[in-house]
Amino acid sequence: MEEDGRKVQNIEEGKAYLMLEEKTVLEQPEKKDAIQPPKAVSKTPSVVEGSQGEPPKGVSKVEPSGELLVTLMSITPQAEQVIEMACRTCYLSFHRYNPPASTEELIKKILKKGHHSVLEHAHATFRIKGGSRVFTHELIRHRLISPSQESQRYVQYGKTRPFDYVVPPSVASTPFAERYKELASETQAFYEEMVKGGVPKEDARYILPNATTSEIVISANFREFRHLFSVRCTPFAHWEIRKVCIEMLKIMKKEAPISFWDFVVNEENNTVTILPPEGAVVDPEDKTRRERAERPEEPKG
Ligand SMILES: Cc1cc2nc3c(=O)[nH]c(=O)nc-3n(C[C@H](O)[C@H](O)[C@H](O)COP(=O)(O)OP(=O)(O)OC[C@H]3O[C@@H](n4cnc5c(N)ncnc54)[C@H](O)[C@@H]3O)c2cc1C
Repeated sequence: MEEDGRKVQNIEEGKAYLMLEEKTVLEQPEKKDAIQPPKAVSKTPSVVEGSQGEPPKGVSKVEPSGELLVTLMSITPQAEQVIEMACRTCYLSFHRYNPPASTEELIKKILKKGHHSVLEHAHATFRIKGGSRVFTHELIRHRLISPSQESQRYVQYGKTRPFDYVVPPSVASTPFAERYKELASETQAFYEEMVKGGVPKEDARYILPNATTSEIVISANFREFRHLFSVRCTPFAHWEIRKVCIEMLKIMKKEAPISFWDFVVNEENNTVTILPPEGAVVDPEDKTRRERAERPEEPKG
């Protein structure tokens, strides 16, 4: 039987096999879920006039590109059927394999029961471009994510690629924005001056701001993505990692709708609600969660 280009052998004598094609989905920059880059491209600053030891003069301001790209590079083919078949191994219940109904029923059941290890059989890989080092530092704290990140030891800003940086919305909308951009540009110019003067890139980078953008590719299994979304899509998380995680979540909800069914994205204000497990008793008088969500002094990280 062939369905959607996938080969599925039907249930025979109490056994079902899922034949997976050895196919990897490569980058899909046109994917409509991904954030599309704005037309603006950041420019490298002009050559610094000041000599070593003198303050730089005539530094041209580098405008941030404002580009943020979240792209799904690959995902386990037929991910949710893989999860189902792996899970059915525990009970040798392959005769019940009858997707899509059986897949939905089983995955929702394991989510409810907490048998989340079976979600580890499916993986996804994302490329994230245009996020700051602030964001990537938070992201790589997640130990079950495998990251590969642009190296500031090897990449030279202004040569390998233009220097780019993030301006937080809370700064962009204030009179501080201009000074912020001037300082970022000055810092980049001084960085270039040091590299040209023989300082190794790995040492010149010490002067670069946290706002510097950094490209990163991450891979993780579905269980870890659920954990990541549960702590990074909430109002407690910092806005930048929240923004990226919500974009990843939207893609995962399209690719694996059952595994992420309980993460509800409110498109109007781009917030995420996590539904309690099906059948869980929710105390309507429990104000703790609501109060915590409203508390501004909650630690941010
Ligand atoms: C709102 C918020 C504020 C934060 N503030 C700060 C801060 O002020 N300072 C700071 O340093 N960090 C901060 N962090 C980062 C946080 O401490 C974690 O390092 C980060 O969120 C990674 O989460 P994790 O350890 O739960 O998950 P992961 O590393 O993604 O691991 C996933 C899960 O695997 C299990 N696991 C992984 N490793 C172990 C282990 N060694 N032992 C047992 N179980 C393990 C745990 O169940 C864990 O939840 C903050 C995070 C958030 C979301």
